[in-house]
Amino acid sequence: MDIQKLIDDVAQALSRYPNDGKVADYIPQLARVDPDHFGIAVADVDGRLFTTGDAEIPFSIQSVSKVFTLTLALGRVGDHLWKRVGREPSGSPFNSIVQLEAEHGIPRNPFINAGAIVIADVLLSGHQPKACIAEILHFLRELTGDFSIAIDPAVARSEQETGFRNRALANYMQSFKNITHPVEHTLGVYFHHCAIAMSCVQLARAGLYLANNGVNPTTGFRVVTRERARRINALMMTCGHYDASGDFAFRVGLPGKSGVGGGILAIVPGQAAIAVWSPRLNKNGNSLFGSLALEMIAEKTGWSTFG
Ligand code: GLN
Repeated sequence: MDIQKLIDDVAQALSRYPNDGKVADYIPQLARVDPDHFGIAVADVDGRLFTTGDAEIPFSIQSVSKVFTLTLALGRVGDHLWKRVGREPSGSPFNSIVQLEAEHGIPRNPFINAGAIVIADVLLSGHQPKACIAEILHFLRELTGDFSIAIDPAVARSEQETGFRNRALANYMQSFKNITHPVEHTLGVYFHHCAIAMSCVQLARAGLYLANNGVNPTTGFRVVTRERARRINALMMTCGHYDASGDFAFRVGLPGKSGVGGGILAIVPGQAAIAVWSPRLNKNGNSLFGSLALEMIAEKTGWSTFG
């Protein structure tokens, strides 16, 4: 299979499609990005890398970061995590508050905002916010072997200034004692990990341990157990695209995690990690062309979790 030709063809085909998606502007700094960026990187478990378009330009990874904070939090507290956050799809938008009252402040899953804020609170235990943010960044740098990965301070500030909903979610969960640190500390960790900037190449490389049974194929180091990698993939498949997770599974058939910066990380177990970036989003807040690109790649390669 000529992956390079395939992704070049996908980029070419999409350049002829109309794109009526909208860049996220509820975080003002995100609205400043050129909406027509488009990049794909495919990193395979044998160490090969294929790229097309803007695959080397860093962008705001936003909720894609939640895959990595979940991995760290499971490493920290193991299965105790599931007392504080569920693992069911929510069927609701990423920033929804509606289920939290009936479910006593336990978010449905680690990938909706409420769940990721609880994960940030777990990671904060025993640390100052700065050290906790540094640990997350360090994890991504170790995974990729790329120490240039950094937080975009303007995005972090912008989200801190306008994150009223996230503040509401955190305060509400605090009332159920499911946030155990000062809300501003927990949110500080959350906003900063969402503001990490990475390119498609860096993101695909970072995700490879999930395609390789928990072992980083570049370094040979085990990041998580095989079982844990399988479970993180399962959560990405069922919850990674919020209320469009079913549609993503139907159309792409791979574990995937999207972010409102327009990035998506998809995992092909046993084969590869794919990162795509296109900032214009569909109505569910997922990259419009990113999802389409993954659908085309899955169709042409036959890569699927479902046979
Ligand atoms: N930082 C964003 C927020 O909290 C993340 C949302 C996303 O990428 N879906 O709203």
